[in-house]
Amino acid sequence: MIVENLNKIKASLVEGVELIAVSKTKPASDIQTLYDAGQRAFGENKVQELVDKFETLPKDIEWHLIGHLQSNKVKYIAPFVHLIHAVDSFKLLQEINKEAKKCNRIIPCLLQFHIAQEDTKFGFSFEEAQEMLDTKEFVELQNVAIHGVMGMASFTEKEENVREEFQTLHNYFQLIKSHYFKFNPEFKELSMGMSGDYKIAMEEGSTMVRVGSTIFGSR
Ligand SMILES: *Cc1c(COP(=O)(O)O)cnc(C)c1O
Repeated sequence: MIVENLNKIKASLVEGVELIAVSKTKPASDIQTLYDAGQRAFGENKVQELVDKFETLPKDIEWHLIGHLQSNKVKYIAPFVHLIHAVDSFKLLQEINKEAKKCNRIIPCLLQFHIAQEDTKFGFSFEEAQEMLDTKEFVELQNVAIHGVMGMASFTEKEENVREEFQTLHNYFQLIKSHYFKFNPEFKELSMGMSGDYKIAMEEGSTMVRVGSTIFGSR
């Protein structure tokens, strides 16, 4: 059943869009089933759960941390995490840099922006991100690589609101690309879209969708 769901989602993706299968709260056996069907990118939102699953599952899985990350937990995922989606402060980025250096790695990260109306969602404002990107301290970080931006739209039935929020994020992506990463081909990801809104997100330029419940069932 979950393989069927996975294949349905894959068939609906716009060309070039990457699917992150969001497996949070779901058992390792479900992940193994999708792995056997060819899926390699999985997303988790809790550090402990991510570490536990990393330890038991095949080592060529690409693990995406999609949820809020506390600085004091970076060390647990630094050796293996594939992409950190929700960097929302300079302090966190510094910590990722420090732990990446210890592992002799450069860790790919996305900057999370606050685009939703709800104030419960984490993320930079555009001004806050600019402020950080302008500092010498940011430029000096050697062990993190900013690969793009991420955001979550409002949880609402109003499609126009969701679409506008995704357009805002796409606009931030382009502004930041042209000001700070113009000659950096690594800065190319626009992580937006979940089960309820990934089709709208793809219409608005998403390169990476994070889909959980439509594949694994409700949590
Ligand atoms: C849980 C989660 C998702 C997936 O949500 P679904 O609605 O189950 O597809 C995507 N992104 C983030 C940041 C999440 O926490």
